[in-house]
Amino acid sequence: MLLTISTTHSPATDLGYLLHKNPARVHSFEMPFGHAHVFYPVATEDLCTAALVLDVDPVGLVRGKPGSSGEGGLLDQYVNDRPYVASSLMSVALLKVFGTALGGRSKDRPELASMPLPLEVCMAALPCRGGEPVLRRLFEPLGYSLDCEPGVLDPRFPEWGGGRCFKVTLHGHHRLSELLSHLYVLIPVLDDGKHYWVGEDEVDKLLDKGSTWLPSHPDKELIVNRYLRHRTSLTRSALARLVAEDGEETDEETNAGTEEEKLEAPLSLHQQRLNATLAVFRSANARRVLDLGCGEGRLIRLFLEDRAFEEIAGMDVSSRSLQMAVRNLHLDTLPPQKRDRLKLFQGSLMYRDDRLSGYDAAAVVEVIEHLDPPRLAAFERVLFDFARPQTVVVTTPNREYNSLFPTLPAGTMRHKDHRFEWSRPEFQEWAAGIATRFGYSVRFLPVGPEDPALGAPTQMGVFTL
Ligand code: SAH
Repeated sequence: MLLTISTTHSPATDLGYLLHKNPARVHSFEMPFGHAHVFYPVATEDLCTAALVLDVDPVGLVRGKPGSSGEGGLLDQYVNDRPYVASSLMSVALLKVFGTALGGRSKDRPELASMPLPLEVCMAALPCRGGEPVLRRLFEPLGYSLDCEPGVLDPRFPEWGGGRCFKVTLHGHHRLSELLSHLYVLIPVLDDGKHYWVGEDEVDKLLDKGSTWLPSHPDKELIVNRYLRHRTSLTRSALARLVAEDGEETDEETNAGTEEEKLEAPLSLHQQRLNATLAVFRSANARRVLDLGCGEGRLIRLFLEDRAFEEIAGMDVSSRSLQMAVRNLHLDTLPPQKRDRLKLFQGSLMYRDDRLSGYDAAAVVEVIEHLDPPRLAAFERVLFDFARPQTVVVTTPNREYNSLFPTLPAGTMRHKDHRFEWSRPEFQEWAAGIATRFGYSVRFLPVGPEDPALGAPTQMGVFTL
């Protein structure tokens, strides 16, 4: 079984420091079920790949175990897919081989361990109960985009159909420890099986490895239930503790935010909006960039990873969001040359502000629908008349698409604080008016899966001077 982790962070070979494994050597570990080996098929400045190979001995797995004629009968004990697929054995290996990295520690590159990096994971054969939809439901809300190829049982006999395994590649910007914790928990969840008995201590393991992301995962019930092998009492206890540990932020605004995220999460819409904005900024060769209504700093995180963006500014009216951004971006531990590229400040889009002048491009992602319609005119002048960046990206929900969200009651908006949600003609008319009044041209892009009649869930206007 093979799992690879790659980065294009520069210098990419720093991955060796993060994993505590020298890229120049092969590292082998004895495991209760065979051996694990780590080596680097590629280790250059621009790309570094660490490979973890599990060499599973299926006979060794059962030899000497009492009651080895258990669940599947004796034959199943010896003849099974354990040697070839990612399973709970992989989680055991991740913990043993990359335990320090999983804990978020790095002796030689501590600042890098706390930073989101461009990472790609490839798993050659990942068994997945529920197929591709479950795979996407589990990984996409965590900010991954994924490619997934179903395995074929035997190409000579297509009528046998596909197996339950997929070749899966995940792409995302994450801290390495986060990514490892996602794999540690979700690989056995996808397999929906464990090679060992699940007891009370598994609840602690799950809450420990999932502490930063599981409470807000839209499918946490499925994850907990499968991770704990459908043992109802353990599942109940884990979910109760998750709620208790999650309970700090229960003000209305946060809850409303979570609802919108939950609704849109299966489409990983948020990530797609950010990627689309990034693509526009890159192709405009923008160097000084603004994120207006930056919220918790998710777009800024992507800007920081791309050195083409020399000056980055984030503004938000909410001091609480800015505090979260400081925390999420780990500003206190960023290397100075990176931190110095960024300014975060509090301000309102309703008021002319000299701090917004001198930028090449500005993003206003999912913000306008939070502004009172009578105040939109003020916003338009602040941005398009006074700040006047060369490129502006505005995104907002497309109301027409709302009927396609299965859990959104008809006639309601996606978020409690939305003052309006526009159809495509309404948004386009508003944007065209701005373009005429302030001398911009504007084009429109769909973001997310496009319905032939109702359009895409998010609409984007790209304004250029
Ligand atoms: N752009 C972010 C956040 C979207 S939520 C993202 O895509 O993740 C909307 C954000 O707009 C909130 O953080 C809210 O505080 C901010 N906001 C609302 N009214 C604002 C105003 N008048 N000026 C600046 N920011 C505002």
